[in-house]
Amino acid sequence: MFSILKTLSLKAKIIIIYVVILGVGGLLTSFIGSLIVNDTIMNQAKSKIYHDLKTSRMVYDNQLMFIKHEVNARACKHHIQDYLSRNDLETLKIHLRQIRRDIGLDFLSLTDKEGRVLFRATNPDSLGDDLSYLSVIDAALNGLVIASTESFPRELLMRESEQLARQANIQLIDTPKARPTDKTAETSGLVMIAASPIINQEDDILGVLYGGHLLNKNYSIVDKVWELVFRGEKYKDEDIGTVTIFLDDLRISTNVKTKDNNRAIGTRVSAEVYNAVLLNGNEWSDRAFVVNDWYISEYEPIRNYENDIIGILYVGVLEKAYLAIRNRVILTFLGVASLGFIFIILISYLITRTITRPLGEMVKITQSITSGDLNHEVKVDSSDEIGQLGSSFNTMVKSLRKMRGELENWGKTLEQKVKKRTEELRAMQNKVIQTERLASLGKMAAGIAHEINNPLGGILVLSSLCLEDLKDDDPNRSNLEEIVKQTIRCRDIVKGLLQFSRQTEPKMSVVKIDDILKNTLSLIEKQAIFHNIEIEKKFSEDLPYVTADESQMQQVFMNVILNASQAMKEIGTLTLETAYNKDDNMVVITFTDSGDGIKPEIIDKIFDPFFTTKDVGEGTGLGLSIAYGIVTKHSGKMSVDSKVGESTTFTIQLPASTSN
Ligand code: ADP
Repeated sequence: MFSILKTLSLKAKIIIIYVVILGVGGLLTSFIGSLIVNDTIMNQAKSKIYHDLKTSRMVYDNQLMFIKHEVNARACKHHIQDYLSRNDLETLKIHLRQIRRDIGLDFLSLTDKEGRVLFRATNPDSLGDDLSYLSVIDAALNGLVIASTESFPRELLMRESEQLARQANIQLIDTPKARPTDKTAETSGLVMIAASPIINQEDDILGVLYGGHLLNKNYSIVDKVWELVFRGEKYKDEDIGTVTIFLDDLRISTNVKTKDNNRAIGTRVSAEVYNAVLLNGNEWSDRAFVVNDWYISEYEPIRNYENDIIGILYVGVLEKAYLAIRNRVILTFLGVASLGFIFIILISYLITRTITRPLGEMVKITQSITSGDLNHEVKVDSSDEIGQLGSSFNTMVKSLRKMRGELENWGKTLEQKVKKRTEELRAMQNKVIQTERLASLGKMAAGIAHEINNPLGGILVLSSLCLEDLKDDDPNRSNLEEIVKQTIRCRDIVKGLLQFSRQTEPKMSVVKIDDILKNTLSLIEKQAIFHNIEIEKKFSEDLPYVTADESQMQQVFMNVILNASQAMKEIGTLTLETAYNKDDNMVVITFTDSGDGIKPEIIDKIFDPFFTTKDVGEGTGLGLSIAYGIVTKHSGKMSVDSKVGESTTFTIQLPASTSN
């Protein structure tokens, strides 16, 4: 489960969290909401039914009060008392029939002061029976005005009226959930009876006037209650409210309908209501199965004058009507909740997208960065944390771009530096090779020169002596002169070789370079080859002294200046410049001529001994190598820089003396 979560995108995770939280919350809310709705509606229904039952009871009791009042009022009439005290039964009969019609009673009868029936308005032939055993008659005989509900057996009803007995007769109908019974029909009747004593002026009780209604198949009370309480309340064209009067557990007056839409007379109350109300005398307030459907119902016992439970008063409403209301409310509630849920999911999706879109972009850009592309930036359109993250990310990309630029530049610079250093190293290596070569050449040259020098001296002395002895026109003279000349040349070469090999040790002293330069120039300036050469002197005023062999230094300068004049072919400008390089503590002397310059391919060889570009007899190729040797011996440096066709500059650096 959790491993699957890890593979999901951030957007999916956030939406799942929303769905889970809202789903669980929504389910809980819906569940609790449904319970509350259910409870509220059902409680309201119960409370309404409770009040409806109280209304029914009021209607029922009103009816009782009405007949009590009417019967009592008639019993109190003087003429009734007169007729009775005079035993004028014939007149009484006429009056009583009229009274029954006026009040609208099912029966109205008169007893004597013993309780024996004197006259029954609805059955004049039935008389003489003693009714004092009836508690209501007995109470009236004792001066009380009574109204109560009583259960009259068939014989009593028959006596009042045959029609009443017929009306009371009800065939029992099998009812689901009713308690089992062997009975097939009910012949007793539930009557509302009022009894009032007839009392004369002397307060003697002359008899009892009693009358009432048979409730079996009499729908006036139940329909009156229905009119008052339930009229217009329908569920799918079915009246939802019902009122019933039971005799014992039998429906004798009701507006509960059977499946074929008849009043459910003859059906019975469920066994559990029977037990609760009829046996235990409790009120019943709950759902109950009535005939063929469930009702939210209230039952309460109907008691007779002796307080025995003889029937039940019931009101109820079809439970399914309230269930439909409840379901509709719950469905509406769930519908609204679902819409809210969808709305919140939609909003959360949009919000999540605003969070994850920049992050997704960042991921993409990070991938581009990994492959080296730094030219993208995140679109920042909010100032929240995500916006700040985007800005920081962009700043990071910018600085990465800058750093990469710097790195590239640095790389280039490094490459150049490496190249330069390599060149310097190569040059240094060349110098070392050259120095070594010069050193070995020097050794060899010194050995050869040393060996040749003495015989050469002998040749020169002897050939010069021979030449002196020869006459001017001697044919061998020119040959001998040539021998002397070449021998001198050989001597010069040997001398040069000895110098090159530093056979002669320098005699060091603290000198002023300017002075040596000036001396050197004074030696050569007058020579014909310098006549057309302009010599520029740029001598530094405060040049430090150097420790050097003056004559060797002079020789070095001489060589360089002579080479320059030869390179300029005796016409041009020679610039002599001195300077002090503080950093290296060196005195720097430069010789710049405006000659032809030195070709790059030979510039590395000019310090080699015997390297010359001059004709045989004109140059020995030793001048610069000797100069280089002397300068190096003085711990100095000698270098050349040249532009072909323009100029050549020789630079000599000598350590500044510390003892001046
Ligand atoms: P030499 O002068 O006898 O040839 P050097 O050792 O003095 O011997 O010079 C070697 C070579 O260096 C010269 O033959 C010449 O080619 C070159 N050279 C020296 N100085 C200069 C200069 N100022 N301008 C051009 N080439 C020069």
